Amino acid sequence: MSRVAAPVANPDAEVSRVALLSVHTSPLAQPGTGDGGGLNVYVRETATRMAARGVHVDVFTRWADPDLPATVPLADGVDVHHIDAGPRRPLAKEEIANQLCGFLLALQRHPAAGSHDVLHAHYWLSGWVGRRLRERWGTPLVQTFHTLGVLKNATLAPGDVPEPPLRLAAEQRVARDADRLLVLTCGEARLLHQRYGISGTNLTVVPAGVDLDRFVPRPAAPSGRPPELLFVGRLQPLKGPDVAVRTLAEVRRSVPDARLRIVGGTSGNGEGTTGPSQLRALARELGVADAVEIEPAIDQAELVWRYHDADVVLVPSRSETFGLVALEAQACGVPVVAAAVPGLEAVVGDGGTLVPGHDPADHAAAVVRYLDDPASASAASRAGVASGRRSSWERTVDRLLTAYGEVVAAGEAVAV
Ligand code: UDP
Repeated sequence: MSRVAAPVANPDAEVSRVALLSVHTSPLAQPGTGDGGGLNVYVRETATRMAARGVHVDVFTRWADPDLPATVPLADGVDVHHIDAGPRRPLAKEEIANQLCGFLLALQRHPAAGSHDVLHAHYWLSGWVGRRLRERWGTPLVQTFHTLGVLKNATLAPGDVPEPPLRLAAEQRVARDADRLLVLTCGEARLLHQRYGISGTNLTVVPAGVDLDRFVPRPAAPSGRPPELLFVGRLQPLKGPDVAVRTLAEVRRSVPDARLRIVGGTSGNGEGTTGPSQLRALARELGVADAVEIEPAIDQAELVWRYHDADVVLVPSRSETFGLVALEAQACGVPVVAAAVPGLEAVVGDGGTLVPGHDPADHAAAVVRYLDDPASASAASRAGVASGRRSSWERTVDRLLTAYGEVVAAGEAVAV
């Protein structure tokens, strides 16, 4: 199907049923390990909040856990449907790419198939399916990539494998044919415009949010115990957990009792080059093994206390589309020391320090400034809390529903 005409705003357009495609990972999965991360949090938070506003949401994901039933209610008005495509066990993303036809065929036979006003696909694998469903059903397709292969390949960390040409080609087609591309930052919009020639009228910036009831400001900065740095997220080269360990070693030159807590599991299906055992080996090599604690991924209900206990949160990622961890830390009032990469530049303002590059000595210098100067730490804390308050998931859902309404109205205008 060719691109529809330019959207004609129709404020009366009804959006009462939305299908979210999240093929490779489920909102029921634990974020911070395997394939679970910001995308899962985004789908869960927006789905439950849309349902609270009276929009029924069906989430379609690959059936990867044989112990789960075909449908699991996530909340009132949100059902997670498991679609058989390939074996009912976790698969690497590269293997899931081979199961997309099966997913598409099974989804077309699902009882809820074709009953939605809008399809919203998350990540390129879902976009591949969404693009074909749009052709068959005529339902408008909204796409969020979350990460772009072109960006990942441009910022590859040592030890990371480049994204295959198949992904890049599929991304381009999905970007061209979706009725609306939702991007998390202006930088992502610029990239889609430059690399794929996508017009600004098909791009809408919808930043992710933070759960302000959960990530509440801490009552006071920690005191009376050694300073603690915190790293939260998947242990993949892209996130730079190795940089966090090296930063701790540098910090200890001037703050010898500083410690580092790492919360998160390995990414995908394996340890890769920055799994817990490699990070422990690195800590031993640097002589800081006793000062590094690594714990597996935990629920956000518990994670909030880790943020509250930290003096500084480290986010030394090589690339981020949108750093939720940096946003959550700021909402809790914890100063952030982050790499100055586009997705983090959009999230970290006066609530932290952006450090050019990934030299641990530079990240350590920023950390030590907060540890040595409580006044600058508390100024960052206040600024972080203020910017967190402006970033609720409710704001994200407002923008999502507006975008959905616009694509539905544009489709109706064309059909008339
Ligand atoms: N997270 C979690 N438990 C953990 C580690 C991470 O719930 O043990 C969540 C974290 O709160 C955040 C998300 O996982 O909401 C990670 O998002 P981010 O944007 O930082 O990284 P991504 O995984 O999308 O690259």
